[in-house]
Amino acid sequence: MDKIALVTGGTRGIGEAISKKISSSGIKVVANYSSNDEAANKFSEKNGIDAVKFDVGDYDQCSKAIKEIEAKHGNISILINNAGITRDAALHKMTLQQWNEVINTNLNSAFNLVSSVIGNMRDSGFGRIVHISSVNGQKGQFGQTNYAATKSALLGFSKSLALEVASKGITSNVVAPGYINTEMVAAIREDILKSIVDTIPSKRLGESDEIADLVNFLITEQAAYINGATFSINGGLRMD
Ligand code: NDP
Repeated sequence: MDKIALVTGGTRGIGEAISKKISSSGIKVVANYSSNDEAANKFSEKNGIDAVKFDVGDYDQCSKAIKEIEAKHGNISILINNAGITRDAALHKMTLQQWNEVINTNLNSAFNLVSSVIGNMRDSGFGRIVHISSVNGQKGQFGQTNYAATKSALLGFSKSLALEVASKGITSNVVAPGYINTEMVAAIREDILKSIVDTIPSKRLGESDEIADLVNFLITEQAAYINGATFSINGGLRMD
């Protein structure tokens, strides 16, 4: 049976690289996005990969979209939980809206998505789930109490899920990138970004393809014994 992969936030940045890499392995990929129709259409046309618009922070939208994807293509056996946002502010200046938007998109999405796909994965005896966390979830970052809280929460979520599903042929792993050359990082002020790069032992930003290569291995049959693990890809910025 053909494998179907859902990559959230799969039309831009790291997610785009993951969608393309998985698709080039011969797996049917559906890429999700939330609002940037222009980027999504361009991505779809260029790569021949379906793009589906829904908000990963909204439970009803996730469950409806996943039902529709599965009716059209077959059951999702690979989920890449990649969509994520930042709304940075020091805690004493952070609004409830900034807090809630990040919690919904980066963390509640894990429940919204996994709870919709896990039943069929359990029944079929195969599943691969990869959560994209962040080095800032591992070490903390000024101005990112909301973001870091969600990214470290994914580690606990993934390990607990792995314990529940390992006996069913399903793996749940985390990839924690450092600073990667995407629009999210381009939004950081130039002088601040330069000072960050100076602290990275590799003295450069990472590339989305470097994340995609690891994710593409974690979804293979050969990676069946890798479960509940966290992989840092950060140029040596933080060593575990
Ligand atoms: P980008 O901002 O470049 O792309 C984000 C993607 O996620 C877009 O496709 C966007 O859709 C989608 N998205 C955002 N919010 C939602 C939502 N509510 N529902 C569905 N889709 C959504 O991000 P990156 O590629 O930089 O980051 C990808 C992941 O990697 C994130 O989880 C991020 O936290 C993590 N990460 C990134 C690092 C970096 O240096 N870039 C470092 C460490 C972790 P649309 O196009 O419609 O806006």
